[in-house]
Amino acid sequence: MREYFDNASAMNSQVFLKGYQWPFDSRKAVGGSSIVDILVYIETVLKGRRVFLDFRENPEGFKFEGLSAEARTYLENSKALLPTPIVRLRHMNPGAIGLYKDHGIDITRQPLEVAVCAQHNNGGLAANLWWESVNIRHLFPVGEVNGSHGVYRPGGSALNSGQVGAIRATEFIAARYGKPSLDTRAAARAATRAATNAAVWLARCAKASRSWQEERLEFQERMSRAGAHIRSLDRLKTALPEARAQWRRIETEGCAFKGGAGAAEALRTRQLCFAHLVYLEAIGFALESGVGSRGSAIVLDPAGRRVHEKLGSEWSVAAEDESFRDRVQETSVEDGLTITHRWVPRRALPRTDAWFETAWAGFRNGEIYK
Ligand SMILES: Cc1cc2nc3c(=O)[nH]c(=O)nc-3n(C[C@H](O)[C@H](O)[C@H](O)COP(=O)(O)OP(=O)(O)OC[C@H]3O[C@@H](n4cnc5c(N)ncnc54)[C@H](O)[C@@H]3O)c2cc1C
Repeated sequence: MREYFDNASAMNSQVFLKGYQWPFDSRKAVGGSSIVDILVYIETVLKGRRVFLDFRENPEGFKFEGLSAEARTYLENSKALLPTPIVRLRHMNPGAIGLYKDHGIDITRQPLEVAVCAQHNNGGLAANLWWESVNIRHLFPVGEVNGSHGVYRPGGSALNSGQVGAIRATEFIAARYGKPSLDTRAAARAATRAATNAAVWLARCAKASRSWQEERLEFQERMSRAGAHIRSLDRLKTALPEARAQWRRIETEGCAFKGGAGAAEALRTRQLCFAHLVYLEAIGFALESGVGSRGSAIVLDPAGRRVHEKLGSEWSVAAEDESFRDRVQETSVEDGLTITHRWVPRRALPRTDAWFETAWAGFRNGEIYK
């Protein structure tokens, strides 16, 4: 990365901040630590190279005095002004070394390969304030699948949201849905339909020319290129037709597999392929709507702000249109493959003038569960 920074200290400070602030953040792309993710993307996705972090020795030109105040103070407060990265890591977080070792990587002896990965996938189903799906009653999507973590969720709120959601959902279920309500016949019919559909598709796979591994790699690479932290209408122009073609191919030809476990992977590949297509369509709608760069993704736009002086003008980012913070994108799929999108106003933050005595009584007698 050295060539992108004026001096080694500027580079080392950003590497420190990358570890410290770590999720990709569109606000930290220009002049911030998220430039590291962009550089890693350029090397791995665009140039097809591999990127490593080497804990064994300091980068050339490393000196504590040159680090930004934030990095230096952190190391000072951690009593970690120690000779090499691995010694500093062992002092501050020995568990990290053990964790990699458990996975066969000894970072005291070898460099650690890195890549940008998704930290979260905030979306999927729409639910009400009791975490009950708004269009499938009795289904409680709790967690990321609820899509309620927000574009800039503060650290820790994801795990809190899952825990709070689970408690609220179970309270609601206990208060309102105490009696079994499943129409077992309808459920059995639906299960039979799904099993028949899967069996018909698996039978097609016998003649498939490409394996599920090849198919999966194809859409994984497409998602890394066009559906991850760096997005553009330009990339989608190629990615979307390719995604549609792959989905049609997998539907009509299946994908080759071996054995029972292979059949499960083939079915998973079929579902993942469909999901990736819907995600790319949804991203395309957001970009065409002009949302701009926000949260965990930047949107490239030649008319935007240059992300780094040493990167070409193609690395210019669109500003965020903040008016979209008041809207939520809803994407739905009907009849198998009719994908539609719309913006709906986000729910207002509740403001209440509840009086303690009456609110407490409402909670105690179960009036709140409606
Ligand atoms: C590297 C990393 C660091 C993070 N750090 C933080 C942090 O510091 N603080 C914070 O608040 N959040 C953090 N997050 C986010 C947080 O961990 C997630 O938002 C949270 O764990 C999501 O929980 P979930 O239950 O929604 O989903 P998951 O934990 O993904 O659970 C979904 C489960 O469903 C299972 N599943 C999937 N498909 C099927 C199927 N077809 N049938 C049956 N089961 C299925 C999966 O195996 C999985 O167990 C981090 C995330 C990552 C990746």
